[in-house]
Amino acid sequence: MEITFLGTGTSQGIPIIGSDHPVCLSNDPKDKRLRVSILVEWENYTYVVDCGPDFRQQMLANKVEKIDGILLTHEHNDHIIGLDDVRPFYFKQGDISVYAHPRVIKALKKRFDYVFETVNKYPGTPTLAIVELNDNPFQIGNLEVVPVNVWHHKLQVYAFRLGDFAYVTDAKTIDEEELEKLKGVKVLTVNALRKEPHLSHFNLEEALDFIRKINPERAYLTHISHLMGFHEEVEKELPENVFLAYDNLKITI
Ligand SMILES: [Zn+2]
Repeated sequence: MEITFLGTGTSQGIPIIGSDHPVCLSNDPKDKRLRVSILVEWENYTYVVDCGPDFRQQMLANKVEKIDGILLTHEHNDHIIGLDDVRPFYFKQGDISVYAHPRVIKALKKRFDYVFETVNKYPGTPTLAIVELNDNPFQIGNLEVVPVNVWHHKLQVYAFRLGDFAYVTDAKTIDEEELEKLKGVKVLTVNALRKEPHLSHFNLEEALDFIRKINPERAYLTHISHLMGFHEEVEKELPENVFLAYDNLKITI
């Protein structure tokens, strides 16, 4: 299985528009972060997790020619607002499968009402094949997908375990029984916003604690704010099996 980090930044991305923060002004390409998403490829499948405002740019940068489906973690704008840009895939392939929690689907119907229009739908509007998720694991090809509940302050968010890999974004807390579902993964990706505590995201220390509990072979941090600091400096402070993810990083599992 191959994972490509399409974006590793928090909701505003890095650089932030108009910001003169040193990290926003950095020339290191690893300090430039689009909004979070990953591309997951295995067998003949290509999926993305989340579809934020940078989706088009991310598909172009990675020369993605087809997608078989989109797994959504939650309905915040930085995770869904690129959905209209599935059109090039829709024109080639037909309806695009979108997997999400029923609450997220309700939000999509509000935000993208025209996509769900059944009467006089505007030509050229994509059609989404909606798959309602619940907590039950399901199969895509030979891969088992396990939805795992995490808390983003008071909002339920789905993390996904995909075989030996798990992707946990926008988490601040996790219930003990959900944590169990992540045990045994070889590679873990987890959100780490910054060093200071935050209401709805792990900070660096909480992310490292979480990684120790799961104990994977390797872990990657994502959903990073400019306040975390320069990539090159923060990377040096991390345990030897923990890395800061960066845009367009590819890993094989
Ligand atoms: Zn987010």
